[in-house]
Amino acid sequence: MLSQFTKREPVGALFGQWASKPLCEPRGSKANAQEATGTGPIVTAQRLDGKACAKEVELQLGHRIAALNEKGVRPHLAVIIVGNDPASHVYVKSKVKTCERLGIKSTHIELDASTDEATLREHILSMNQQEDLHGILVQSPLPNHMDEEALTDLIHPSKDVDGFHPENLGRLVQGRLDGMLPCTPSGVMRMLNWANIPLRGKRALVLGRSRIVGMPAALLLAARGADATVTVAHSKTEATRELCREADIIVAAVGRADMVRTDWVKPGAVVIDVGINRVDDDSRERGWRLAGDVHPDVEEVASWLSPVPGGVGPMTIAMLMENTVRAAELTIQA
Ligand code: NAP
Repeated sequence: MLSQFTKREPVGALFGQWASKPLCEPRGSKANAQEATGTGPIVTAQRLDGKACAKEVELQLGHRIAALNEKGVRPHLAVIIVGNDPASHVYVKSKVKTCERLGIKSTHIELDASTDEATLREHILSMNQQEDLHGILVQSPLPNHMDEEALTDLIHPSKDVDGFHPENLGRLVQGRLDGMLPCTPSGVMRMLNWANIPLRGKRALVLGRSRIVGMPAALLLAARGADATVTVAHSKTEATRELCREADIIVAAVGRADMVRTDWVKPGAVVIDVGINRVDDDSRERGWRLAGDVHPDVEEVASWLSPVPGGVGPMTIAMLMENTVRAAELTIQA
């Protein structure tokens, strides 16, 4: 099936004003884009509004879905969740809800935490064969007794709408457009494009090197067409704060609440906060609140800052929907 993905343009061409035809209307003012280079005066950071950007992505997807429907195809996403992790259930619910809103068919499979690996394997293999099913997502994290990487490797690359299959990540490493791109990093890139933020030649620092966020985000930023100069920091990195202070663009994907402080950020830098952390908060009825990896005060220093919630989160779901629609389109282009 992957032979359908024949388009060989640089990955960076998918995003940016770097592309000849941006995928959504850029929103950043020219002045703000200049500020993003670190040369202009910053009063307070502009909000990189992932909700608004995701809404535009959804609008465009609506047209593509209507075109598919005319050809008798309804995009179809299957989401499998194993166990009772409350945050995972919230994520799955919002994915299913977004599918409903867009007219994407969704199949939601909930398995008990004690389910054995063989059962999950059977589900994935059988879904690989199902012709009217275009995308398969296994919600992370899986229970400890399961080998998450081995299981997600079973998803056929053309249905791997999370973009985690080695074949899809390999294509990304090669700088090719003919695979599925991981949703969170491609959502980050889409937001940067939307805000008209220049990347070419800029110094980008990615905090975190996971296969889900950090590493693919670094690859996308460095890809031909995006053309940033990228540094990746991780738990063994020395002088992380100093590295951050040199960056024009910071992508924080660590999982440590408020780690990036104002004195970590160069005035005028663009800061993307991927982190989603639950922190205790007695003032809330539920006893906790969500916090990003970036302290909110960073808005006093940055030119752009993505909020948590309402920044990268909605973009991740929008990119998942886009991958599903793309997977459906590829079946009729075969
Ligand atoms: P992960 O797999 O736990 O990876 C965390 C990364 O941070 C690792 O590479 C780790 O380094 C690095 N790290 C840990 N402590 C560090 C430190 N003190 N300095 C520098 N780097 C450090 O997490 P993930 O899946 O990438 O997710 C990261 C965050 O993003 C989490 O809060 C997660 O909830 C959130 N997230 C959000 C979305 C969304 O849609 N908004 C999607 C996915 C994830 P080592 O490799 O050395 O351990």
